[in-house]
Amino acid sequence: MIVGVGALGCPCADLLARAGVGRLTLIDRDVVDVTNLHRQTLYTDADAGSNRPKAIAAAERLRAVNPDIEIHPVVADLNANDADEILEREKHGKPDILIDGADNFETRYILNDLSVKHTIPYLYAGAIGTRGMATVFIPPESPCLRCLFPEPPTPGSQPTCESVGVFSPVSSIIASYQASEALKVLMGHESRAMRSLLEFDLWEGQRRRIDLSGSRDPSCPCCARRDFEFLERDEEDTVSICGKDAIQVNPRVRERLDLHQILAALSVHGEFSHLGVLVKGTLKDEPYTLSVFHDGRAIIEGVSEPALARSIYDRYIGS
Ligand SMILES: [Zn+2]
Repeated sequence: MIVGVGALGCPCADLLARAGVGRLTLIDRDVVDVTNLHRQTLYTDADAGSNRPKAIAAAERLRAVNPDIEIHPVVADLNANDADEILEREKHGKPDILIDGADNFETRYILNDLSVKHTIPYLYAGAIGTRGMATVFIPPESPCLRCLFPEPPTPGSQPTCESVGVFSPVSSIIASYQASEALKVLMGHESRAMRSLLEFDLWEGQRRRIDLSGSRDPSCPCCARRDFEFLERDEEDTVSICGKDAIQVNPRVRERLDLHQILAALSVHGEFSHLGVLVKGTLKDEPYTLSVFHDGRAIIEGVSEPALARSIYDRYIGS
């Protein structure tokens, strides 16, 4: 299961599909944007032009690469409310590996909780600017993410792909490392998986390896006390989307929307189209672009203030 089919998820999914990994579940909440194309290697200019959901565009590309494997695209946000449910819904049982292609720390801590709770190896990774890091957590023996970093960084304390961008070769290197570790685990060679945190800075030509053996924290809230607080938290009301001037607004009640009804309602306010699992368009009186998904989420472009995004949502989609 690959969570986030962006700069890391694209090259990793591509390598795994070509290697013949039998089943890939691709989870992504966003649509392809032209600013993604330098690093998100499964997408084309046409995907960006038609605002295709990444999970669906990636699945189509990978099916063309290898028609003999099973690919399951999921257009959704892996959040505290439904992370367990998304795992349980997998028709062949829980995934063998969780691969981190996320662009935010909240999702990584949810993945870590899932990994420890369900004893599934978790391939942690991140790439930002010209730097990237990755490691493999294999419960129950290895440390977990929270043994190393007990809490996510405070918002605003770390660079984001919005503030510094992503140098595309670094995400491809980190994704290749993830694919390599995934193949070892899937082939039953868990003992060969790296027990260290690898860090690269391609601009400076630096590489660092931190040995993680012995770094399990006996008082870790997650793997020692089994307190899965990131799965139990209330979902954030709004989330910034990395790499674009946009905010995702989550619905107050999770229920499937009737997109035909949403299209009819929004068409009064601008040019909107129904694009499969979403309705997208730009308002005529305000400088905002809205993508409303069937699960009730909306991504509002042209806004950086969460409160303003929420008020636009309430005004045009309803609360
Ligand atoms: Zn731990």
